[in-house]
Amino acid sequence: MQKLWAQRALTLDGWKNGVSIEIGPNGKIERVDSDTEPNGEIYGCVLPAPANAHSHAFQRAMAGLTEQRGADPTDSFWSWRRLMFRFLERITPEQVQAIAAFVQMEMLEAGYATNVEFHYLHHGPGGEPYAQLAEMAMRITEAAKETGIGLTLLPVFYQYGGLDGRPLSAGQNRFGNDIERFMKLAEDSTGLVNDGPRDWVSGIAPHSLRAVAPRDLKQIASLFRDGPIHMHLAEQIPEVEETLSSLGMRPVEWTLDHIEPDARWHFIHLTQMLPHETERLAHTGATAVLCPITESSLGDGIFDGLGWFEAGGRVAIGSDSNIRISLSEELRTLDYSQRLRDHSRAALATAEQSTGRRLFEAILNGGAASADRSTGALEAGLWADMLALDTSHVDLADLQGDMLIDSFSFAGDDNLVTDVWSAGRHMVQRGQHVRRDQILAQYRSAVQELRAAY
Ligand code: ZN
Repeated sequence: MQKLWAQRALTLDGWKNGVSIEIGPNGKIERVDSDTEPNGEIYGCVLPAPANAHSHAFQRAMAGLTEQRGADPTDSFWSWRRLMFRFLERITPEQVQAIAAFVQMEMLEAGYATNVEFHYLHHGPGGEPYAQLAEMAMRITEAAKETGIGLTLLPVFYQYGGLDGRPLSAGQNRFGNDIERFMKLAEDSTGLVNDGPRDWVSGIAPHSLRAVAPRDLKQIASLFRDGPIHMHLAEQIPEVEETLSSLGMRPVEWTLDHIEPDARWHFIHLTQMLPHETERLAHTGATAVLCPITESSLGDGIFDGLGWFEAGGRVAIGSDSNIRISLSEELRTLDYSQRLRDHSRAALATAEQSTGRRLFEAILNGGAASADRSTGALEAGLWADMLALDTSHVDLADLQGDMLIDSFSFAGDDNLVTDVWSAGRHMVQRGQHVRRDQILAQYRSAVQELRAAY
């Protein structure tokens, strides 16, 4: 039994003072009481810790290295794709594990309790499957055992190189499976998850409309009756154009009419929607999984946050390419994109809730749905996913209520996060992951090997 006490905490009934929280040996919250005297370990401000709802761990090793341009001025993806293919020629399972552990550690230190891993690097160089089909998935689960992060593992179904059903290119063959081999891979991945801590979850992820044949998309969804389904959707203008010419509809229109998504579905990006798509998709109960830092980095476009919130849509946050892992920065980038587009301020705030509070509660709920995890609030019976903020820091000192989250989101950074628990596992203490040194050393040698090769 762990016992902690917070001067202030955000509960389901709003902000409370003198909050005592008891965590059972199973990692679940057992009791939450407010207006109590200090007892147990004492913290300034405790919040529920959200899930990071979208990540491709191995891409962390490419962060900051793809900012050059090639000879063709229209090809702004040149340096990104070139480096990605270089990595894909050589990256090993050992390196993937070291990178994933580093990514998960950074997620925890940023205040996330869960890594929803959209895992698509399955096979060896050239596309040759490993002796254990789920070797790479096993590397992700081994990393999660070391970091103590909550894990929702989504093996990705990736079949084609484009909407016309063309074969995979040389750079994509480590991702590819037909349905039969994917079923086996997903089964093995679920086995790995079931052998892990009890809070882990497995789902699936058809990669995108480009990578999965339309006729197979429904079949895949019907073959997996449990767990969340994630898919990239409507991220870039060329994707919209390709879908229009191949399927005669925009990607979200086509998905609405042919997949009939519901609350099991979680769509990544949605930066290319027209107002009627935003409204219809929000009403289905599907989650919009937004990755504002990566979407900025890739120049994807701006999600219609105002329209989506107005239609009652659900949102989650993910770090996607992991070019930078920062919860506070994802929140402010999302809100700032709305401000820059609309020439407005604090448009997501309501009479009852500030901008930061509304966004934070939204991603707690959406993140719980996307991770398919019993979390998202300080409430008995849920996993003890929590973060503590340093209220002695000058940016938070003497603040109350919503201003604590606003200052964390808009003025602060990850340095304000002192402690993080994932299903009761107290992995970040006094601002650092408890295994930081060894995880950093493993990551350092993995990227040294990779960088030596280009
Ligand atoms: Zn992605």
